Amino acid sequence: SNTTSTSASTRSTAEWQAADAAHFLHPFTDFQALARKGSRVIAKADNLYLWDSEGHKLFDAMSGLWCVNVGYGQKSLVDAAARQMLELPFYNAFFQTTTPPAVELAELLAEVAPPGFQHVFFSGSGSEGNDTVVRMVRRYWELQGQPGRDVIISRWNAYHGSTMAGASLGGMKYMHAQGGLPIPGITHIDQPYWIEHGRGMDRADFGKLAASWLEQKILEVGPDKVAAFIGEPIQGAGGVIVPPETYWPEIQRICDQYGILLVSDEVICGFGRTGQWFGCQTVGSRPDLITFAKGVTSGYVPLGGVLVGERVAKALIEQGGEFEHGYTYSGHPVACAVALANIKLIREQGLVEHVRDDVGPYLAAKFEALRDHPLIGDTQTCGLMGAMLLAKAKTSAAGGPELFDPALEVGMVCRSHCFANGLVMRAVGDRMIIAPPLVITRAQVDELMGLIHRCLDLTVAELRTRGQF
Ligand code: PMP
Repeated sequence: SNTTSTSASTRSTAEWQAADAAHFLHPFTDFQALARKGSRVIAKADNLYLWDSEGHKLFDAMSGLWCVNVGYGQKSLVDAAARQMLELPFYNAFFQTTTPPAVELAELLAEVAPPGFQHVFFSGSGSEGNDTVVRMVRRYWELQGQPGRDVIISRWNAYHGSTMAGASLGGMKYMHAQGGLPIPGITHIDQPYWIEHGRGMDRADFGKLAASWLEQKILEVGPDKVAAFIGEPIQGAGGVIVPPETYWPEIQRICDQYGILLVSDEVICGFGRTGQWFGCQTVGSRPDLITFAKGVTSGYVPLGGVLVGERVAKALIEQGGEFEHGYTYSGHPVACAVALANIKLIREQGLVEHVRDDVGPYLAAKFEALRDHPLIGDTQTCGLMGAMLLAKAKTSAAGGPELFDPALEVGMVCRSHCFANGLVMRAVGDRMIIAPPLVITRAQVDELMGLIHRCLDLTVAELRTRGQF
C-alpha cells in the first residue's frame, strides 16, 4: 500500500519539520541548512520499504544505516523486546550481577563467532565498542609487561565511530579537525583503494603494496611500541571499498610477524552482510578482537560490543585484576533479548547462506553488468554491499576511469534523483553505495536494479543539460 496511518499523521509534514528544526540537532548535519530545507520525515517501514509522512514509498537499499539485516517488521524481535520489558526491563552487569538474556546472548555469540572467540564485552553502540577496543588492547599489553606498547594503527578514510576514541581511530580528516583529534597513540596509513592509490597497477600487486604500508608504519613507530592494527574488512562509510584479495592475507602475515593484535571492526560486516557470519571469514583474516553493533539486533534496539579472542581473553582473565571499564548498558537485558531473537531468525531463515549462495552472487552479476552504463566507471560488491563509481569516462591516461571534478558533486545529483524516485541509496563522493537488508529476494534485486538504472539515466540527462557529461 502507498498510504499510511501512523503517529506521523497526528501532525502535518510542515509541522514535524518546524518542530524538528526548533529542537533536534541531528548527527553529522549542517543545522542551519537542514532547518532551511526541512527534514524528510520517515513514518513507517515494512520488509525493505519505508514510507515518509506524505505516504511516499521508498526502497531502502541502505538497511537504515547498514543495520536492519532482517528487514523491518519482524514480529519475533518485537515480541522478544516486549516480553523482556515486562519481565526485567533493566538491570546492570556491574557488582557481580548478571541477567539471563545477557548470558544467553554471550553464549550464542560464541557459537556464531569464528573459532577461538569464547568471550564478549557488551556496549551500547559501535563507537563504544571501539572505545572498549582501545582500552582493552592497551590493558592487554600492560598485562604483558609492555605498557609502552600503546600505539594503534588505523587507516585514512576508515570509519570507527564518533566518540573521541572512535573518531580518532577513524580516518575522516574533517572529523579530526573538530575537537583536537586524534587522541595520542593513534596513527594512520593509506587505505587499499585502487582508484586513489593504485591506478595503472595490477590490482593484486596493489593489494600487497597497500598492506606493506602497515609494515612501513610499524617500522617507523618502532615494533615494540605498536599495540594493534584495526580495520574494517570492507570499508563501509568510506564508500564500500573492497580491497584486492591479496590485501588481508598480507596484513595478517605482517601482524603475525610483529606480534601485534589485529582488530576487525565488523560493525557493518558482521551478522551476514558479506555472506559469512563475519567479514573476517570472507576476507581471510584471523583477528584477536571483533567490534560489532548494528546487525546484532538489526538496529531494532541499540547494542554493540567486542568479541574477545583467546589470546586477549586469557590475559584479561588469568592475569587480569579489574578491568576499569564498562557502561550502564553493557549487557542491557532488552537489547540482548532482541539480539537473541534476531540471531535465531538469521539462523532459521538461513540468511547468511541466502547472501552467500543466492542473492549475493545474483547482485554481483547485476553490478558487473552495470559497468556497461555510460555513467559507471567501476563497480564492486561483496555479499550485500555494493558500490558503483560515477565517472566521466571509462578509461583515462592514468589508468582506470576518468573521474568527475569533485566540485560538481555528481554523487549528490544522483542521490537527489534516487530520493525523488523512491530509492534510498547513499553517495560517498561519486561512489553510490548500497547495503540492502539480507532478506532481499531476487525479484527485489531486480526491482532495485530497475530503480538504479532509472536514477543513473536521469543523472546522465541532468549532467548533459548542464554540459558536464
Ligand atoms: N564502526 C563502523 C565500521 C561503523 O560503520 C560504524 C557506524 N556506521 C561505527 C563503528 C560506529 O557505530 P555507532 O554509530 O553505533 O557508534
